[in-house]
Amino acid sequence: MKPLDSIKPAVRAMRGYTLAPHRASLKVNQNENPWDAPARIKEEVLRRFTERKWSRYPEFVPAALHERLAAFAGWKPEGVLAGNGSNELIQASLMVTMAPGKRVLISEPTFLLYQQIATVLGGEVESVPLTGTLQYDNEALLRAVEERQPDVTIICSPNNPTGCVIDDDALRAMLRASRGLVIVDEAYHEFSEHSVVPLLHEHENLVVLRTFSKAMAFAALRLGYLLASPELVSEIRKAVLPYSVNLFAQIAAEVAMDHYDNELRPLVKRIIAERERLFAELSKVESLTPISSKGNFMVVKSATDPRRIFTELLEHDILVRDVSGYPMLRDYFRFSFGTPEENDQILNAIREVCG
Ligand code: PMP
Repeated sequence: MKPLDSIKPAVRAMRGYTLAPHRASLKVNQNENPWDAPARIKEEVLRRFTERKWSRYPEFVPAALHERLAAFAGWKPEGVLAGNGSNELIQASLMVTMAPGKRVLISEPTFLLYQQIATVLGGEVESVPLTGTLQYDNEALLRAVEERQPDVTIICSPNNPTGCVIDDDALRAMLRASRGLVIVDEAYHEFSEHSVVPLLHEHENLVVLRTFSKAMAFAALRLGYLLASPELVSEIRKAVLPYSVNLFAQIAAEVAMDHYDNELRPLVKRIIAERERLFAELSKVESLTPISSKGNFMVVKSATDPRRIFTELLEHDILVRDVSGYPMLRDYFRFSFGTPEENDQILNAIREVCG
């Protein structure tokens, strides 16, 4: 037996989720916040962090943080679980549900990590395509839930990479029809100015995932959180490593929540305004069809090879995401919105490349 024979065949057959290490001064390939965390927030985090002991483990269960997150999100503290990025919570949710013979339902194209983790865990992935206009196919999704009764259904809303959202009534119908869990990944919910958190009161099979990596401008700090019934949280918690949320991220999250309304929300509003401006401007470019998005990013259909656009934009020192390998997106590229000045630069470069 060779060493590689120890690896599960389903894992050997997978392509890993990686990101090519391209560099550019204007980086719009990872849906990050173009503004760094505001100076007031950084200073306050550093001040509080310096006052604390670094030699001691953080709390076993960060109860104070869970309480703050609960108040911030409008849910109960026993129904909150913080993690090392929402990636860890996607993984934990699937670790406690997936095994050979277990099935997860997704809609494609979507965030690649769901499939990857489910497959590593030996689960099977079933998928319902988005509609031809890249929206959630509510009827097909409901039928799939009713007929196939997946153990877990994952809906990303707003969806990375297409920016479509799930309608509340369609989600309610799926929650009612499903005997399994329905996970809604709300990584980008701030940019849609909507949340499915109120539905937690009506549906005990709903799990909501959120992150501090996007609107909260903390991608480097790694903090995500999960909202669900206290009973589900106690089970999912078993798959999270002890102390996975370090003290720095805990303090930073508390400070960010203190300052969300005055420091961060105005930046979200500007990103939303930029999204509408970019959509209107790109609609005027003959060879391009931008797809309306509720996230801080959008996909754009191109009459010419999107990989050429990717390469030529890189020559303009702009790094967008090549999504042409995703199902249904062969003719598309994705980029996230920058500051207004950066967006002017992106628009000019796109007009030059595609004009
Ligand atoms: N969910 C979605 C839909 C995402 O796009 C991302 C980041 N690309 C994540 C989760 C992971 O976020 P985090 O930084 O919190 O792990």
